[in-house]
Amino acid sequence: METRLILFDIDQTLVDMAGAGMRCLRRAFREVCQAELDGVVPDGRTDPAILREGLAAARIPPGRWADLERECLERYAEALEVELAVPDPGRHLKPGVQPLLETLSEADWAHLGLLTGNLESTARLKLRALGIEHHFPVGGFASDCSNRCSLGPVALERARRHFRVPFQPPQVWVVGDTAHDVQAAHALGARALAVASGRYPVTVLEESRPAAVLADLSDLPRVLNILRN
Ligand SMILES: [Mg+2]
Repeated sequence: METRLILFDIDQTLVDMAGAGMRCLRRAFREVCQAELDGVVPDGRTDPAILREGLAAARIPPGRWADLERECLERYAEALEVELAVPDPGRHLKPGVQPLLETLSEADWAHLGLLTGNLESTARLKLRALGIEHHFPVGGFASDCSNRCSLGPVALERARRHFRVPFQPPQVWVVGDTAHDVQAAHALGARALAVASGRYPVTVLEESRPAAVLADLSDLPRVLNILRN
């Protein structure tokens, strides 16, 4: 059995934070930029990319973007930490995630990581709030690079060093809920398992040509079968 590296997206793939992320990002944007973060579709985008689109929409001169973006991200991480410290029963793991992570963490053929548009700090806040952070020692994060397609190589290199396994792209799976996740997998030369547990149905996800598509991660034998391949 050849070893697999399985890189998970976070929002709408592993977790549903009941809107906490975008709520805090919008609040940070409003406080820092004195404008609304409107008309931006966050799904599958990195947080810095979402902010930059908001800065453009608010007609803020590009010369100020770098400073404002840094300030927004700092304010956002602080706001998210405060919000997640208060329990909200609306936050939950997506179907099948808990048994899947427990099974994969025990499996000698699987190593786990993250590939996410979150900053590493906010990624870990979200996962910790739902008790699954310990499954993910490494990852590629928006704090490494704002272009999601560049995050795969970062995650791969970290995983090679951390697990001391010379993973090659064909051994890697990316699991995510948007076409952006599938594109990030393809940019890496990896395969994508798309899950329709977010806002995009199976038929839409299929258009981005993932190696596999599922409604969600609840059919454990089927998911394991796909990832072992
Ligand atoms: Mg997602």
